[in-house]
Amino acid sequence: MSIQRYAVQTISVKCKLQVPVELRQEIDATLQGFADACNQIYEVAKRENCWNTTKLHHQVYKPVREATGLKANHVCQAIRRVIGNAKAVKQVHKFRPTSLNLDLRTFQYIEDLQTVGITLMCGRKKFKLSIGNYQLALLRGQSPTAATLNKTKRGDYYINICVDIPTDPTGKTPKVIGVDLGRRDIATTSTGQSWSGEQIQNTRDRYSKVRANVQSKRTRSSRRLMRRLSGRERRFQKWLNHNISKQLVQDAKSGNATLAFEDLTNIRESLNQKPRSKTERRRSNNWAFYQLRLFVEYKANIAGVLVIFVPPAYTSQTCSRCHQVHPVKGKSYRSGKSFKCGHCGFEHDADINAALNIAALGVSVNNPEVPGIACLLSGQLSLFPTTGGENWDKAYTDRRSAV
Ligand SMILES: [Zn+2]
Repeated sequence: MSIQRYAVQTISVKCKLQVPVELRQEIDATLQGFADACNQIYEVAKRENCWNTTKLHHQVYKPVREATGLKANHVCQAIRRVIGNAKAVKQVHKFRPTSLNLDLRTFQYIEDLQTVGITLMCGRKKFKLSIGNYQLALLRGQSPTAATLNKTKRGDYYINICVDIPTDPTGKTPKVIGVDLGRRDIATTSTGQSWSGEQIQNTRDRYSKVRANVQSKRTRSSRRLMRRLSGRERRFQKWLNHNISKQLVQDAKSGNATLAFEDLTNIRESLNQKPRSKTERRRSNNWAFYQLRLFVEYKANIAGVLVIFVPPAYTSQTCSRCHQVHPVKGKSYRSGKSFKCGHCGFEHDADINAALNIAALGVSVNNPEVPGIACLLSGQLSLFPTTGGENWDKAYTDRRSAV
């Protein structure tokens, strides 16, 4: 469970560069020089086992500058890139001439002209940006001090400009929207909204072979998988996740509610006390859900919407009205799309039922001073020990006024 608040949220704004033909080789030469520098620096760092920026700088700055012909600040950025990369990933691959880190001294955004100035090996060059209103709005009034220049496989050039977006303060709110991820639909909320997975199923099937090959479970494997997936599927998923997260955050903002998700990062067999099902594995390993949560988190941060994570145990099996789990081990009141409680007779869409449970857990996380909403009793998750209504908001309000 985590509750995070920031005064600003750093995001990167992706802008396409208009590059005249004669400048393409200048950019490419700089990209190549930067990759060469990174590879040389990495070799030294590995040989000397030196991962301190200042110490490494003393060792490599001069020889690397002479060998590559890069500008001073390019070399400094290459050192940072190598150390940052080594800390982030276990296995550093060879650096390829596809990206260049820029800082205050090698990059400038000129808002009036919709232009960026970029220092290349041959000196400072100006490039026009091809951007739309979305990027314009994010860049308005900003004086960004960091950016990354990228070259795509197709040979297009992009610049990712880092900007700090001020965030609205997040306030505690008794309302919680629960979001259930990736069972039948991509996402289902406790308010009854859902985003269907059907439209992307076809695209997914084509790549199921790639997925079947991926065995390990950690986030690193998600990143590896992401690289293996084709650009098209990745772009489509990203577009979808942007839309879903935008809608979720807007709804939470306008309804003055907190968003609650299951914490799927640490699902262990012991939590469910049975072997992890195919669905559970898919839900915890899937980078698409990971990306959706990331998008929600940063958009929520900007909008001042609180995002919380709740334990995922039993959310799909508990009745959201009477909070009973099927008494027979291995059996569930849930069957496919529908949930029918054998205890109180409550019938509902299974995913919405799960989302309602997530929302209720969220209420208890968000308002720990309210007693008795969620407790773990003899391995069974019990929400609202006394019988509540179907409507959690109402149940919550009733309880509040009773306290
Ligand atoms: Zn029930």
